[in-house]
This record gives sequence, C-alpha cells and structure tokens, in this order.
Amino acid sequence: MIPISKPLFDDQELTLLREVLDSGIIAQGPKVAALEQQFAKLAGTEFAVAVSSGTTALHLALLAHDIGPGDEVITTPFTFIASANSILYTGAKPVFVDIRADTFNIDPARLEAAITPRTKAIMPVHLYGLMADMDPIMEIANRHHLVVIEDAAQAHGAKYKGRPAGSFGTGCFSLYATKNMTSGEGGMITTNDAALADRLRLLRAHGSRVRYYHDELGYNFRLTDLHAAVGLAQLGKLAEFNQRRRQNAEFFNQHLKRVVTPVQPNGYEHVWHQYTVRLVEGNRDEALEKLKQAGVGTGVFYPVPIYRQKVYQKLGYTDCLPVTEEVTRQVFSLPVHPALTPADLETIVAAVERL
Ligand SMILES: *Cc1c(COP(=O)(O)O)cnc(C)c1O
Repeated sequence: MIPISKPLFDDQELTLLREVLDSGIIAQGPKVAALEQQFAKLAGTEFAVAVSSGTTALHLALLAHDIGPGDEVITTPFTFIASANSILYTGAKPVFVDIRADTFNIDPARLEAAITPRTKAIMPVHLYGLMADMDPIMEIANRHHLVVIEDAAQAHGAKYKGRPAGSFGTGCFSLYATKNMTSGEGGMITTNDAALADRLRLLRAHGSRVRYYHDELGYNFRLTDLHAAVGLAQLGKLAEFNQRRRQNAEFFNQHLKRVVTPVQPNGYEHVWHQYTVRLVEGNRDEALEKLKQAGVGTGVFYPVPIYRQKVYQKLGYTDCLPVTEEVTRQVFSLPVHPALTPADLETIVAAVERL
C-alpha cells in the first residue's frame, strides 16, 4: 500500500539526537533555541517560539493576544479540529465562515458579515499547504482592529505574493509526524512583535522568567531538545521535501482527468501538504475502496465540518454553510509526499483514472 503520508529520516536526525543525548540536556535547551532561530528565517519573522504542538501554538497565541471569555474568533469550519478547539480552550467562541470551493480556504468575501462587536481575531487556515487569500483578510482585520492568527500547521514554506506563511499575523505551525517537516510532536509560533514573543515564552513555561518565581498563570507547553534535534534536521531538508511534493503535484495536475484537481492561483506558492481532489461524479466511499484495492492509500481531510462535530453540536452550533457542506462530501487526498517513487506516481494516476 502506498501510504498517504510518510516521514523521511536519515543519519542527520540520528547525529543531532546523539548530540543531545551526549550533552545531557534533554529538556528545552540549545537545540530548541537553534530551531527557533532557523524557523524564524523560514517564516521571515524576527522571532519564533517553540512549543509542544501545533495545538498548543494556537492556544498560546490566542492567550498571548488576551483572547478569552466573551470574545469571538472567526475561522473556517473546514480544517482540523484543533483550529477551532484552541479558541474554545481560551473561553472564546469560534465563529465559522464558509470557504471557497476552489482553494478550500476561508472566503474573504464572507468575512465582514461575521464581524460583531465581540470579534477579536481572525484565524485563517492555510489548508493543504495553500495560503489563504491574505490581502483582503489583512485589509479587513486592520480596518476592524482585529488580530490575525494564521493556522500555518500545513504550510511550512508556503508563500503568498512572495511573503511566507507565518509572517502576516501571528503564525502557528505544527511539527507533527505527518506535516511537511516533523519533530515527532512540536509546534512553533512566529511573530515580529518582541513583546508578544516575550509573553509567549513566559506563558509556555508556567509564567516564569526566574526559576520558581511565577508572574502569571502559565502552562507547560515546552518543546524538548530531543524533539528539536529531529526538527532541525528536518528543517534543513524542508526545501528539498517541498520541491519533491511540488513535482509530484505537477505530475498529478497533468495526468488526472477523472477528478477536479487542486488550484494554485497566481502569486501563491503551494507546498502541497495534501494533494486534495474533488470527486464530482460517483460515490466517494466506493472510489476510496477501489483505490485501496489498487494499493493506493487515501485520506479524507475532513469528512465533517467542525460545526457538525458532536462536541460542537453539544455547544449549540446549528451552522450549515453550503460550500463547506458540498466540499466535505467530495474531497479526498492522494499521497503526494516526498517518499513517492516514479512507479508510485504511475500507480496512483492509473488507479484514479480507472474510477
Ligand atoms: C495538524 C494541525 C493542527 C494541530 O497540530 P498538532 O501539532 O497536531 O497539535 C492544527 N491545525 C491544522 C490545520 C493542522 O493540520
């Protein structure tokens, strides 16, 4: 079976891991600092603050912007549940805005209608490695004095009009096993705001600047040097990984006719975290079963809009956003990761064209 995702490791991860083990500094230390420095370069920001996951990155970013009970944060319902859950953790309310069917990202044309006096922030998600349409989002946010928190968990190295993901608002990345680069578990927050970076560092370590003196209620959201060692090796290979993803996606774009292939609008640099197609004619479950029989692993990201998840239904959400509803029924993702061989690519195309 060709897996839908596959992390790629070599001796570089082992070498850096051994350095950490030999140093005896296992908790947050010099490797975390080095990863932060390198990651800030990737995002084109002055600061990067490492945390324990993409979820804690989003949670901490919201807290550091003083978002909490009584506030509303606008986001997309077509994303991994962590985007919206991070808003709930703070006591604020996620407000869902429909997506565009071509980019799968939040539709800026529908944003303004969702803004209320309680709105504090907009959280666009750069889904599948394609950035949200940031110019209108930033324009609306600035005009209404709203914070922008980019969920860039799937967009390491992606660009919009030459500017990297994580450099528009407060950027939140995941270093989970299936992402374009991984540290096992891990996350990163990027910003140009020195005061915000300082607050994030404070909150990630129990509100403590001086050991055992605690200035405010903080958390243990630290990353370990073991994770950072793996992350550093991966970050060094990210450009090559993304290039291979791009080549694989181009091959699919050229050869797939049976399904609606994903777009890369002018001015966007997609990093193809997922290669997601839409099946407009035919039954998706049957199609996925046929692909499985042909040895092609697939994934449905995401089968249920967040407002329809049980946990959100219990909170009283009754949304029914038409584009999201349609797209959740149609999408599935094909393997596009850098471990694919030319034979894998042929197998995948042949299997999809036979659907
Ligand atoms: C993976 C992911 C997250 C959460 O990251 P974790 O590291 O798994 O906590 C958040 N948002 C999106 C869009 C993701 O894909």
